[in-house]
Amino acid sequence: MVARPGPISTRPLEQADLAVPVPMPGEVLVRVEACAVCRTDLHLAEGDLPPRRPRTVPGHEVVGRVVGLGPGTASSLQPGDRVGVAWLRSTCGRCPYCLRGAENLCPSSTYTGWDVDGGYAEYVAAPADYVYPLPGDMPAPELAPLLCAGIIGYRALLRAELPPGGRLGIYGFGASAHLTAQVAIAEGATVHVMTRSAAARELALKLGAASASGSDDPPPEPLDAAILFAPVGDLVPVALAALDRGGTLAVAGIHLTDIPPLVYERHLFQERTLRSVTANTRQDGRRFLELAAIHRPRVTITPYPFDAADRALSDLAADRVEGAAVLLL
Ligand SMILES: [Zn+2]
Ligand SMILES: [Zn+2]
Repeated sequence: MVARPGPISTRPLEQADLAVPVPMPGEVLVRVEACAVCRTDLHLAEGDLPPRRPRTVPGHEVVGRVVGLGPGTASSLQPGDRVGVAWLRSTCGRCPYCLRGAENLCPSSTYTGWDVDGGYAEYVAAPADYVYPLPGDMPAPELAPLLCAGIIGYRALLRAELPPGGRLGIYGFGASAHLTAQVAIAEGATVHVMTRSAAARELALKLGAASASGSDDPPPEPLDAAILFAPVGDLVPVALAALDRGGTLAVAGIHLTDIPPLVYERHLFQERTLRSVTANTRQDGRRFLELAAIHRPRVTITPYPFDAADRALSDLAADRVEGAAVLLL
C-alpha cells in the first residue's frame, strides 16, 4: 500500500497484512495471478497524483480468476473464469458524458488502486460490469500489461487520428508504447520511435519500427500523428514541430511536467492539433483486447515477485525496465 506518498527513494510503499476484500453487490472477488506496474502507480506512490484515500493498495492491470460473487451479483461470470481488472472501476451512467459514450470523462468515475484497493495484493474486488473476460490459455504475465498499457495506448492511438497507412511518431518507449507500436504497425502504419533509452530503441527496431532515435531528434520524415508517452512536457514542442501539416499530437499520460511556451508558427499553425487522453471507455478496452487477440503483440515483460513492488517502481522511475514490469504471485 502507499503509506507515505513521496519520492520513490523514500520508500513510500509498505507491505501489510490485509483482510481478503468482501465483494459487494454487483462485484466479483478475484484471486490475483499477476499485476503489471503502471507509471500511474509511480505517480500515486510519489504523490504526483494526490491520494483519494489513505493507505490504498495500488495496481490496476490485474489478471486473475473469479473466486466469488457479491450478493445478488447478476453476471455471466462464474468462479474459475479468467478476468482482467483495469483502471476504470466505475462510472455513474447518467451524466451527459456517460450518456454520449464518453464515460472516460465521467466526473463521478472511480479508479482501481486510487479510490479502492487495487491489485498489488492477493485478492481484489471489482464491479462485474467493469472487468474484462480474458482468455484462460494465455500466460497471466503477458496479459497483465494489456489492461492499462495496452488499453490506454490504444485510446491514445485513436485520439492521435492516424490516417490509414500513416506515419506515426512515438515519444518514449515503455510498456504502453511497445504495445501501441505493434498494433499500429499491424494495422499498416509506419512507426518512428524517439526515446532516450538505447535498450528501448533496440526493442523498437526489433518490433518493426521504421526508425528509432533519441528523444529530441527529429524523425526521418514528417509525422501524420504522434503520441507522447514520456511524461515530459519539454517534448510537447519537439513533437509538435515534427508533425506534418494537419497532424495531431496526443499526450497519453495522466501526468505531464510543465509544457514550455509554444511558438504558434512553429508548433500549432497549419492546423496541427494538441490533445490529451483521459482514461478510457470500456468500449476502448473491449476493442483493444479483440485486436490484441488477433495481432498477438509480443509482450516484453520484466518480472518481479510481489514483495518487490517498490523495486519495480524505482526501476520504472529510473527507466531500467524493459517493456512492462509485472508482479507475479
Ligand atoms: Zn457519468
Ligand atoms: Zn495505468
